[in-house]
Amino acid sequence: MKYNISVKQFIDQGKNIDHNDFHSKLIEELKRINKKFHLLQCIDESKPQAKPSLFSLPISVKDNICTKGLQSSAGSQILNGYIPPFDATSVARTKEAGGAVIGKTNQDEFGFGTFSTNCGYAVPKNPLDPERSCGGSSGGAAGLVAALNYPHIALAESTGGSISCPAAFCSVVGLTPTYGLVSRYGLIDYANSLDKIGPIGKCVYDTALALSIIAGHDNRDSTSLHVAKKDYTKCLGKDIKSMKIGVPKEYFNNTDKKIEKYVWDAIKKLESLGATYKEISLPTTKYALASYYIIATAEASTNLSKYCGMRYGLHLGMEGNFNEYFSRVRSKGFGEEAKRRIILGTFARLSGYREAYYLKAMRVRTAIIQDFKLAFKKFDVIAAPTMPVLPPKFSEIAKLSPLQNYQMDVLTVPANLAGVPMISLPARKGEMIGLHLIGDHLKEEKILQVASAYEAMK
Ligand code: GLN
Repeated sequence: MKYNISVKQFIDQGKNIDHNDFHSKLIEELKRINKKFHLLQCIDESKPQAKPSLFSLPISVKDNICTKGLQSSAGSQILNGYIPPFDATSVARTKEAGGAVIGKTNQDEFGFGTFSTNCGYAVPKNPLDPERSCGGSSGGAAGLVAALNYPHIALAESTGGSISCPAAFCSVVGLTPTYGLVSRYGLIDYANSLDKIGPIGKCVYDTALALSIIAGHDNRDSTSLHVAKKDYTKCLGKDIKSMKIGVPKEYFNNTDKKIEKYVWDAIKKLESLGATYKEISLPTTKYALASYYIIATAEASTNLSKYCGMRYGLHLGMEGNFNEYFSRVRSKGFGEEAKRRIILGTFARLSGYREAYYLKAMRVRTAIIQDFKLAFKKFDVIAAPTMPVLPPKFSEIAKLSPLQNYQMDVLTVPANLAGVPMISLPARKGEMIGLHLIGDHLKEEKILQVASAYEAMK
């Protein structure tokens, strides 16, 4: 196909591209793909001006990131019809750099899920095997990166693994930055102390480029870090001879045998490039899941209280008193998983249980951070499988209990609780298995460097 070029080629050739032709073919292709795989909640057909430096590079945006004039519903029916009058900072920065928003990608409602099956709109199908899940919750984003053979980068979001998981399942690259590196202004919150916006792309370069654009302090987000802007593509292509890699043994317990083999093969390949590795232990791994689901649901349940049919999205005819109206709107607008999490989170916050659940979960979180900090005193990067399973079929997911669902996040929640950066890239080209590289706070360059060295080998 004529426009089957990389992001880098697109930018380099920017001036010589017939952007009208590019745009109309792109929209046609998006519609075709969307019919097949249901990756987008909406497509923005408006013609952008091809201004430098990105020349209207196509950017898809996860549905929970606000885009001016385009419905932003976080995958939930309760926000159906909500059209923000403003752009999230990450979107505004992308547009300023010359990127063009092409649509909003489907996701689990508010990010509540691992398979993008808890969707208020359509359930995205994995382009590599449509009987299987794209992963979640940024399933539409990763699926679109995999399916669209045009230059394109997806803006996605992770609370407990929602960038890494779908990147692994769709065999693409997903970068979750350090908590606070990318502004959350304009993100429809799941759990504020965990949420991070990050890019998904076809290759490591695409994610490094996007991070260079969206990272950096923002006055409108009080948790945004004061970090100087950087060009993250500069660290790519450097050798990894002095890199020390830690491989946590806990991350291979109960992991699919094929995944275990492919990830170990990848680690051996990194060794052949001059890096050294050692098996290590992260003893708090087994407590991470319980801690995560208490903290995340506690925060989510408070965040969701504002959706009651008064201000945002879904409105119904006003009948009965306010409480009756609110419960009608919430019963109709929230899906089953959102309701489950509201109940779980509210329970964990009840004054009598605060000490037993929430405060204990916070202490576990501190212990997990210390575990990682200790490891990063000795190692530059931690390497592990991204997910313990291959993408399941929809028929298999339907049989999972909520707890079995939550258990699928066992390998992604520890690093997300610690707020450290991570990148998932295909352990082998075209396979739905991710190699997860985790770095210390603000050491994005190290994980990008190792990822690019690995990618260049294949
Ligand atoms: N699967 C996890 C959850 O359901 C993480 C989702 C996310 O990162 N948004 O909470």
